[in-house]
Amino acid sequence: MNNLFEVVIGLEVHVQLNTKTKLFCRCATSFGDKPNSNVCPVCLGLPGALPVFNKEVARKAMMLGTAINATINKKSTFERKNYFYPDLPKGYQISQFEVPIVANGHLFIDFDDGSTKKVGITRAHIEEDAGKNIHHGNVSFVDLNRASTPLLEIVSEPEMSSSDEAVRYLKKLHSIVRYLGISDANMQEGSFRCDANVSIRPKGDTKLYTRVEIKNLNSFKFIQKAIEFEVNRQIEAWEDGVYNKEVVQETRLYDSAKNETRSMRGKEESSDYRYFPDPDLLPLIIDEAFLEECKNIPEMPDSKRDRLIAEFGIKKYDATVITSSVEMAKYFEDMLKEGVEAKNCITWLTVELLGRLKGGVGVEESPVCAKKLAKLVKRIEDNTISGKAGKEVLDYAFENCDVEIDDIIEKLGLKQVSDDSAILAIIETIMNANADKVAEYRGGKDKLFGFFVGQVMKESKGAANPAVVNELLKSKLG
Ligand code: ADP
Ligand code: MG
Ligand code: ZN
Repeated sequence: MNNLFEVVIGLEVHVQLNTKTKLFCRCATSFGDKPNSNVCPVCLGLPGALPVFNKEVARKAMMLGTAINATINKKSTFERKNYFYPDLPKGYQISQFEVPIVANGHLFIDFDDGSTKKVGITRAHIEEDAGKNIHHGNVSFVDLNRASTPLLEIVSEPEMSSSDEAVRYLKKLHSIVRYLGISDANMQEGSFRCDANVSIRPKGDTKLYTRVEIKNLNSFKFIQKAIEFEVNRQIEAWEDGVYNKEVVQETRLYDSAKNETRSMRGKEESSDYRYFPDPDLLPLIIDEAFLEECKNIPEMPDSKRDRLIAEFGIKKYDATVITSSVEMAKYFEDMLKEGVEAKNCITWLTVELLGRLKGGVGVEESPVCAKKLAKLVKRIEDNTISGKAGKEVLDYAFENCDVEIDDIIEKLGLKQVSDDSAILAIIETIMNANADKVAEYRGGKDKLFGFFVGQVMKESKGAANPAVVNELLKSKLG
């Protein structure tokens, strides 16, 4: 990256809330049903049909507001955002414009060195989703099952200064949403969608320059690449003296096949949408009791991380990895329930288990469950097997889901010998075979100790417990 410029990024995230029914009617929100099977006069926008607000949507919005330390507006409003598109049957989208339910929040993004950065969240407002246009050759179809399903649009301040920070922000927000359980946040299915607003400016300048809004970003990797492409395009335009011509406020589409952004349309101003209050909907009023109820949220990733550090003395980096997703946190806590050491859990979970899970498979889909991995850790802690043997056991457990840890240890013959008499017998054999070295050692050549340990381990075919070997050798060699 050119160091004469700095990058400014603000993100808009649309989260599909996982309510059972739609925002203003009782149609199901389920994904993948037969096209146009979950529709009614309200979400089809038929004349005379009246919207009735789904209270569960407010609950989930307020839970998010609480998690990002935002102000929750006890009175918010619904407006109509007017535009024409075939998948928008009413010709307008109901959204919150003047007063959103959630405003002025923030979250912290985490860096690998343990540092954090606060990013402001301007607002989070409730709105309805559109349907879907499906194109087959020359014919297009419209599926309105998604029409009027509830979305929460979460708008950040323009406070991120690299694609890396943008991705970290999104991962944190994704994690918060999943911890709250207010959305499945599945990016492929479109329940967590992001638009990235990108501009550049000469370093040190504080004013905001022209921004481009990139749409169609459905994976963290694409978001990173799209922002990088766009930043380079803007910097090149500046350096070539064509910034004012090439960088205009517009909406661009990211094409992942070509790894480039292309102009889609000129950027609308909010006046283009002719917002006005929806006459069919009263302002949304939240009473104190409901607000208090919704403020009662589960432990969020940052608090969980800090608690784990305080409780178990683990490193901040490890605690961040462990709490990065609700699935990881659950896996870790399920291991702890089995009474094994936190530090051992971390190593076996983050190094050994994650190292074996390939191709984006999450811990929740791991062939080895938390209880089973904890059993393996326990067998290392109680010296039944060595750490090295543990890796073999885990490899085997990955391929043979139905075999218990103790049976695997038995089957692979990995049980350590900790029994004193068996080890003493081996020590005696080794000492007899190396009488000269024993004399040298006793004469002061301390370095030979390692040689004896090695010989005993070899003789036991690696099965002797090294701690016991060390102890017994010390007393035998004198
Ligand atoms: P709209 O709804 O028209 O896209 P908003 O005012 O809601 O407009 O802003 C959308 C996003 O654009 C916000 O996340 C904001 O932080 C970001 N943003 C605004 N100006 C800039 C800029 N110059 N560079 C980068 N991001 C910006
Ligand atoms: Mg926008
Ligand atoms: Zn409906």
